[in-house]
Amino acid sequence: MKREIYQKIAREFENKRQAALLDAARRRDALYRKCPALREIDGQTAMLSFKKFELGDMPSYADEMKKLADRRAELIRAAGDPDIAPHFDCPLCEDTGRQGGMYCKCFQRRLIEENLAAANLSKDAQDETFETFDLSFYSSSVQAGVQISPREQMKKVLDHCRQFADRIDERSKNLLLVGKPGLGKTHLSSAIAARVLESGHTVTYISASEFAARASANKFSGAMEQMEPLYEADLLILDDLGTEFRTGVTNAAFGDLLDRRLRQGKKMVFSSNLSMNELTECYSERIASRLKGYFACLVCLGTDNRGRKG
Ligand SMILES: [Zn+2]
Repeated sequence: MKREIYQKIAREFENKRQAALLDAARRRDALYRKCPALREIDGQTAMLSFKKFELGDMPSYADEMKKLADRRAELIRAAGDPDIAPHFDCPLCEDTGRQGGMYCKCFQRRLIEENLAAANLSKDAQDETFETFDLSFYSSSVQAGVQISPREQMKKVLDHCRQFADRIDERSKNLLLVGKPGLGKTHLSSAIAARVLESGHTVTYISASEFAARASANKFSGAMEQMEPLYEADLLILDDLGTEFRTGVTNAAFGDLLDRRLRQGKKMVFSSNLSMNELTECYSERIASRLKGYFACLVCLGTDNRGRKG
């Protein structure tokens, strides 16, 4: 997880909490003005707690405290029960972001959102998780000439992707998701990204054409900073391989990217509308052999789902 992202969210939570507390204090002060006796009671309650703290043991403490609390409740009721409690976004952690010594769910959700945004993944992609991947969109009938129904095949692909994401630190082949458009390849790569981000790793996303454009621009400007996240992220997701405009420069940059990440054992997920054979014909021998040797090719089957999802 990127430190700046964590700090940004921690600051956001602190501000949110302080704003809620300040708002509650303002409402309470307004009530004090209408009902000075309440201010008196709150003052006495604070004094009593302090006395108990000073004395340590104080037998009458519980009784006195209860008397004050009862009187307070009475006064608030008489004032028409105004709402003077702080309004936190998250009642579980009261906007501290922590609960029971762990990050609260709300804090984790923000971390994932921010990491996805930093990974260059869209808002849509943020809803594309393993949990929302729906196998019922895929037919369970086996087509002539194929061994397996789309649904069975996609179940295998889904399981493979999930395992890959859960074991991002272990040695395993990279993934190449191939198949026609609309079969869920982008959904799967977003789901992998979300899972990998959840486990505190960094992810970066780029389309093949964006990569080619960036590689060409950098070749001539000499600015390498734009390429750094592609080398450094724990997981690189590269979509639509084979659709980019290829030149000697882009092929060399792609070959370097592959080699550098493979050497460092950093994982990659590529997707393409082309088959493995078509892909290896698109690229140089050097790139083709890396794809064949270091990527597990997962074939997506079925008919275009995009219309049905609505
Ligand atoms: Zn929370």
